[in-house]
Amino acid sequence: MSSRSRSPVFVCAVVVAAALGLVGCAPVTAPIRSSSATPEAADTPTPTPTPTPSGFDKTALPIDDPASIWVVVNKVRPLEPSTYVPADLITTPVPHLNPPGLRSEAASAMAAMFATAKAEGAGGMQLQSASRSYGVQVKVYNGYVSSVGEDGADAQSARPGYSEHQTGLAADISAVPLTCALAACFGQTPQGLWLAANAYRFGFLLRYPADKTAITGYMYEPWHFRYIGVPLATEMHATGVTTLEEFFGLPPAPDYAP
Ligand SMILES: [Zn+2]
Repeated sequence: MSSRSRSPVFVCAVVVAAALGLVGCAPVTAPIRSSSATPEAADTPTPTPTPTPSGFDKTALPIDDPASIWVVVNKVRPLEPSTYVPADLITTPVPHLNPPGLRSEAASAMAAMFATAKAEGAGGMQLQSASRSYGVQVKVYNGYVSSVGEDGADAQSARPGYSEHQTGLAADISAVPLTCALAACFGQTPQGLWLAANAYRFGFLLRYPADKTAITGYMYEPWHFRYIGVPLATEMHATGVTTLEEFFGLPPAPDYAP
């Protein structure tokens, strides 16, 4: 989901097809313990590690409440109410091209992620697009409908009330200097590669992987990250489940209801 009509459009001329063949999130690091695992009492000796199920509680937070950081929004799960406005939007303290509002928890995590990416050699990043209100999404979507019709609009923009950006938990990230912005080839930039491998450490999910279009309803978007909190992001990373729909056992959302 991107608001190309409000952002500079950059055409990336290289290897889109190759980039499309890549999966965004390669689970490659040391084994992760779910932070939801039962904590050990301080005075008990460290037990021998055993490969037990994580015990992650998939019902710990609601997925229907728009104010929940686990809310699942897709083409068959609109926000309710459709005009929902997050109560704790703040200005994310990072470079940005459009209004950088995110919910406070997501904003802090985003700033930490950008700083760590730079420290680890991934280069500079900026927020291409962050929170968008229902009203802004109406303008974005209607702009597409006017120029390319409803089918074309649906392929490039979420309908108002169906956009993850309205939750204040989703952001489109681009590189500094700007390269492959809102294009599949962003996934092959140092920034895109680092984000795909490391965003979970900060509680973010690459929401629209290349191989899950039929489930998410969106093309590969290596620039779109959704804040879900570190415990859930870590659990998904550890178990190799790459979509919220699959993790929570929800039906695929390839298109809007007729
Ligand atoms: Zn987006």
